[in-house]
Amino acid sequence: MPTKVLIPTALRQYADGKDVVEIAASTVGEALQTLGATYPALKKNLYTDDGKLRHFINIYKGDEDIRSLQYLDTALSGNDELMIVPSIAGGASIGEMDITEDVALSNDEIKRYSRHLIIPEFGVEGQKKLKRASVLMIGAGGLGSPLGMYLAAAGIGRLGIVDFDVVDYSNLQRQLLHGTPDVGKAKALSAKETIARLNPHVEVVTYETPLTSANALDILKDYDVIVDGTDNFPTRYLVNDACVMLKKPNVYGSIFRFEGQVSVFWANSREATDGRLPDGACYRCLYPEPPPPGLVPSCAEGGVLGVLPGVVGTMQAIETIKILTGLGEPMVNRLLLFDALKMKFRELKLRKNPECVVCSDHPSITALIDYEAFCGMPSNDHQGNSELNPSREKTMSTSPNDITVQELKARLDAGETPFILDVRNPNEWEIVRLQGTTLIPLPELPNRLAELSGKQETEILVHCKMGGRSAQACEILRQNGFKNVKNVVGGINAWALEIDKTMPTY
Ligand SMILES: [Zn+2]
Repeated sequence: MPTKVLIPTALRQYADGKDVVEIAASTVGEALQTLGATYPALKKNLYTDDGKLRHFINIYKGDEDIRSLQYLDTALSGNDELMIVPSIAGGASIGEMDITEDVALSNDEIKRYSRHLIIPEFGVEGQKKLKRASVLMIGAGGLGSPLGMYLAAAGIGRLGIVDFDVVDYSNLQRQLLHGTPDVGKAKALSAKETIARLNPHVEVVTYETPLTSANALDILKDYDVIVDGTDNFPTRYLVNDACVMLKKPNVYGSIFRFEGQVSVFWANSREATDGRLPDGACYRCLYPEPPPPGLVPSCAEGGVLGVLPGVVGTMQAIETIKILTGLGEPMVNRLLLFDALKMKFRELKLRKNPECVVCSDHPSITALIDYEAFCGMPSNDHQGNSELNPSREKTMSTSPNDITVQELKARLDAGETPFILDVRNPNEWEIVRLQGTTLIPLPELPNRLAELSGKQETEILVHCKMGGRSAQACEILRQNGFKNVKNVVGGINAWALEIDKTMPTY
């Protein structure tokens, strides 16, 4: 019987859109080779140029990571399923927290939390643990919304919110902390107001600042549990490393289109030293390196079903409450995958990497590093996503390889007809497009260069939604001998905001 290889959403575009491919093979390595031979674009994403499996890709046979089996030599038999698990972009002490002061529940609180208090396993003690607890939410967006609202409703004593973005119309489809009147307001402030309406007993501390290597340890150190609701890789690695260094639990969630991941990363915890919990893997044990810039699109580029963060963020809230109360078994060393289209959950085993650069016995990273440089991408992919922050959108032409929308408009008005290449996806093209442009989506570009033959010397102006993917497309074109390639800074959103205000943005 052939082996079923399950292809995750983020990589399906490289496998003719298939979610399952059946392959006859006797080992994992053979199956992946066959897969790569069938889908060359997928192969480029799975393997480095020198033929090694990329670090941001994990392969599971059943629920076991092949790194804990015989890696590529792992044998396959009849009914095996292979799963490709890439990192996706879109966090006390168990049961015995240091009790420095006793807290009492007021009559109001007893009434408010009565459905907790009457659960025998939870009771007044459980509720007091929540009241004494502090939780830091990184991000008040899609994941932060259900998380912040449920944690506040549950009676967490102090809730920290790190977010320096402002509410945009495109957030309202999923970010329930914010309403239509909040558009343009700082998310941290909007979240604080929503939480105050929900439960005035919760103290909310806001940090309207980007989380950076300079401030992360200082902000995180005052909280019992850190919940990672970020949407970008530099902040994820920063939060992970800071949590490892502070020995704090990092409740992880990520989302993309219809799929989510949830886990608890908790390395070197006191609970592990005491033998109450297994020593936990960290995010780097799972994904030692981020994907190359642009390979895995963000939610702003790839989209996300609005309800999905509701499910994933709610599961993060449950894990947080379990850690704070000591109830149940936290998801340490387990990775939960949720596929909304199939309505399926799968659980995979995580193992601490004995060679992990940050959480092993001999770490090489002992202080926070430059995470934007490590990931090769900025930590804020909202940039330019806000209609109310056109200043962020300012599209100054900074290099001869760039062209601003103003420059492009002036040239079109002067009667020029430059060749304009749109590298967005077809469904984005359906939403809005510039007249007279040619569409070749970025993932297909390497295989469709022949369609541009004869244009090696011609000027090619490349645009996408906001300028990120088009910059990658320019790079691909230059590497393939196209000599006069320019990136339209700010993409079609800049055009809509600064040139043609009747155009929709998305
Ligand atoms: Zn680790």
